[in-house]
Amino acid sequence: MRIAKVDAFHLRARLDRPFGFSQFSYSEREAMLVRLTSTDGRVGWGEAYGPAAVTAAIVREFLGPLVVGRDPRAVESVWDLLYARSIDYGRKGVMLAAISAIDIACWDLKAQDCGSPLYRLLGAEQQDRIECYWTGFYFGGDEPLQVRWEREARDCLDQGFRALKLKVGLGVERDVAIVRAMRGFVGPAVRVAIDANHAYGPQEAIQLARQVEDLGIHWFEEPVSPLAPEQYLQVKQNTRIPVAGGECEYTRFGFEKWFRLGALDYAQPDLCACGGITEGLKIASLATLTAVHVTPHAWGSAVGQAAALHFYAARPRHPSTTVPERKLIECDRSENPFREAIVEEPIRLAAGHWHLPKTSGLGVHVLPETFGPYLVA
Ligand code: CA
Repeated sequence: MRIAKVDAFHLRARLDRPFGFSQFSYSEREAMLVRLTSTDGRVGWGEAYGPAAVTAAIVREFLGPLVVGRDPRAVESVWDLLYARSIDYGRKGVMLAAISAIDIACWDLKAQDCGSPLYRLLGAEQQDRIECYWTGFYFGGDEPLQVRWEREARDCLDQGFRALKLKVGLGVERDVAIVRAMRGFVGPAVRVAIDANHAYGPQEAIQLARQVEDLGIHWFEEPVSPLAPEQYLQVKQNTRIPVAGGECEYTRFGFEKWFRLGALDYAQPDLCACGGITEGLKIASLATLTAVHVTPHAWGSAVGQAAALHFYAARPRHPSTTVPERKLIECDRSENPFREAIVEEPIRLAAGHWHLPKTSGLGVHVLPETFGPYLVA
């Protein structure tokens, strides 16, 4: 099997309800999907996180031509070729996101060729589903935040979720008030994480953490800038709340210093950014050296979500234990038509659990004929 053709699709959809978090707001969603067509007529799909016009150009103009004629099952060789060829001006950011998309599509083809769902090929036992947490509770809109968030929380609980993540980062006092109110609203049995999207410096982050740590917060995500792992450590050493982060980090080379410092309790590489499945596995192996649990960031289309789900299904829970501890994966509930509108059958979400696809490969059948209204020329 060889790669015969590489296509990059830049998709964009205007949103009915714009939303925001501490750093910026969205009035549209984008996706950059890569399709690899093999010489035996199979297609594999991958996705890149970040600015779609840029990653699409990288795939079309630079990386795509390099992989035509290569065997997509040779994931290590393909990855090394792309990384080595771009190392002078890549190593992080959009270049790695573009490599990620090609890598995920290669794994899709490889698993199809093995006739196996990807998570089984990655070494996991047969399983049906994984519990997920509801990512939502964004800012924006005219209604008072607490009114809207309580409605969203009711929806979240009604749909069977028992874990959710609240956005914070608009000021310590305001955050403390809303997090307290929401904990009171959902009750003690629901796992509640908070995410500042690196809005704070270490002093503010520590102030916030200390004022909500009696609420049993599951983790504090991106409290401070991803430029400073040392500041994550500072936060971690000054609160009982576990610290999470890593969605803005790339490759094992980037994650190594986080693990060496002991800056994280939960590492959150994004498979569509960090270097794909191939690199995600290496990051996860590094994480085991310091018993850090890896739970992927996932904010993309059905393709990116499937990649995260298969990857996570194949990860053991760390720190290692014989007690089967519940795993928890991200489930973005903000408006995004690309989770459902472009696939034959969306990944099944029921009672707060993602159900693992049973068909071979990534298990999402993408329908390019649905791209029309979203396609950016
Ligand atoms: Ca986040």
